[in-house]
Amino acid sequence: MNLARFPRRRYTKGYTPLEKLTRLSEELAGPNIYIKRDDMLGLTGGGNKTRKLEFLVADALSRRADTLITYGGTQSNHCRLTAAAAAREGLRCRLILEEVVPGAHSPRATGNYLLYHLLGVEKITIVPKDSDDNAELQKAAEQAAAEGCKPYVIVLGGSNPIGATGYVACAEEIQSQLFDMGLNMDYVITPSGSAGTQAGLIAGFWGNNSDISVVGINVSRDKAAQQEKCYKLLQATAEHLGLKGEVPRSRIECNGDYFGPGYFIPTPEMIRAVKRLAATEGILLDPVYTGKAMAGLLDLIRKGRFKKGENVLFLHTGGAPATYFFADTFFR
Ligand SMILES: *Cc1c(COP(=O)(O)O)cnc(C)c1O
Repeated sequence: MNLARFPRRRYTKGYTPLEKLTRLSEELAGPNIYIKRDDMLGLTGGGNKTRKLEFLVADALSRRADTLITYGGTQSNHCRLTAAAAAREGLRCRLILEEVVPGAHSPRATGNYLLYHLLGVEKITIVPKDSDDNAELQKAAEQAAAEGCKPYVIVLGGSNPIGATGYVACAEEIQSQLFDMGLNMDYVITPSGSAGTQAGLIAGFWGNNSDISVVGINVSRDKAAQQEKCYKLLQATAEHLGLKGEVPRSRIECNGDYFGPGYFIPTPEMIRAVKRLAATEGILLDPVYTGKAMAGLLDLIRKGRFKKGENVLFLHTGGAPATYFFADTFFR
């Protein structure tokens, strides 16, 4: 695929590491488990939004915008990285933050919320749980324009076809690394939220004629709803890329068994998975996304979904800065 025709800013030097989790693989005696370290991407604290923002911010700059506006939870990694990209580019940044757990937000919160302040965000608006994100973004953009700014709106999670292109590029990066390593991967496992990561990966593998399967572990929605969300974004992304042929709905697999009572709410399995990865591999996962996705992978291995001799790649999408906000959850 020729992705060079899309404007892109670079926030990471080279590729992120793709390494084997040797000790975990030995302990489980199942498939060979590898990890793609997208927690080591550039911008403050790394994580998957950095790849999406390379294309989104390039688009904003090509439109001569001077203010990035986006939406997320009070502990949003996406908002943290949007603020970091704005700082890097000399743009202004405004955030609309949804109170994911009513009453739980404090104006002295740590984690990502602290970082918004350090990163020079010029305006933060807190809105109640289940607000209409697109309506709030529209309102904020109109207000910014009325104040003389040139706003560029980035949707929740950066998950539109431009943002998802970051994960099309990641699929190509993974294939290039696997080829260099002489390694044939069977599966990529990723957390799935606003679905740009999963849809981008599927578009990338499909568009490159690769049969690597992508398994999404949902962090907020049941299987049917997440698959539909992913399918719509995959269609739009395929169109953006100019891919021909029927978009393969059959390649979309979203597992709704591991997000527990809801988005952002810790589960005992997540806590065990975060502790296990830290203690066996020295790798820090996060409570909201990768901890739940790893809990899913561990359970699926236990159930025999991935077999001895197969190769699975866990995509570490980042999120560690939010972990410090959850100190009480882990000390309990
Ligand atoms: C946003 C996010 C995800 C989910 O990615 P989507 O593209 O929204 O599905 C996973 N992990 C982390 C750490 C994130 O911040």
